[in-house]
Amino acid sequence: MLTPMNHVIEGLDADTRRRLAPVATRFARGVRLLARGERPAAVHFPVTAVVSAVVPLADGGLREVAMIGCEGATGAESSLQESPSTMQLIVPVGGEAWSVDVRRWRETLAESAPLRERIDAFRNAFLAQVMQSAACNATHSAEERLARWLLTGLDRTPTAAVSVTHEFLADMLGVTRPRVTLLAQTFQAAGLIRYARGIVTVVDREGLAGVSCECYATVRRVYEALLPYKPDCADGTPAGPGRSEGSSAMASASVL
Ligand SMILES: [Zn+2]
Repeated sequence: MLTPMNHVIEGLDADTRRRLAPVATRFARGVRLLARGERPAAVHFPVTAVVSAVVPLADGGLREVAMIGCEGATGAESSLQESPSTMQLIVPVGGEAWSVDVRRWRETLAESAPLRERIDAFRNAFLAQVMQSAACNATHSAEERLARWLLTGLDRTPTAAVSVTHEFLADMLGVTRPRVTLLAQTFQAAGLIRYARGIVTVVDREGLAGVSCECYATVRRVYEALLPYKPDCADGTPAGPGRSEGSSAMASASVL
């Protein structure tokens, strides 16, 4: 019996859920779910995991264009056709998810109007996030973008802690690792976060929102307007596959 969950499939009728037949999965931090040019074999619905959609560059670097958590689905933007993915999917925050074979996904999507409505809404919100990131990456400072990243990640996990390496953040923000360390120290000194060995805990969410560029609030408003459910994971602490209670699984996540 399917246990809630992920907001895209949460609230669907029992028949649609049965047809989706999602399988419980756990993603380790750093794993690549999909390379650019590949065709997705499955659509994933994060529960406690967070997935980043990134663009690989010729120099080996990556730049993040969007994050997906319990509010969405990975691969949904490209799973309707057989065309190769235009982006890469990696896991900055390890955790649990549900996975649906792409053929079953397409068949169920064709038959279920409620599922199409949910995924259409998510796809529109996701596109808005990608567009905002294009403007953000070209305009706003590393400090502003780090604050935005932490808040966006926090919305997509059920805890106050985001377990992520400085190396990953440096890649996503397009800055050096020492620069990320310096920014994290500044945030900690200001009482905005606590961090130790890769686990960042947001202490002052409002303060962090004050440091972030406008992009966090802009995208958050779009998600709230477009999605038929609350876009963050903070309320209700959804129970995922293999989880027993609360947020201990994420809060105690091991680090590199
Ligand atoms: Zn921005």
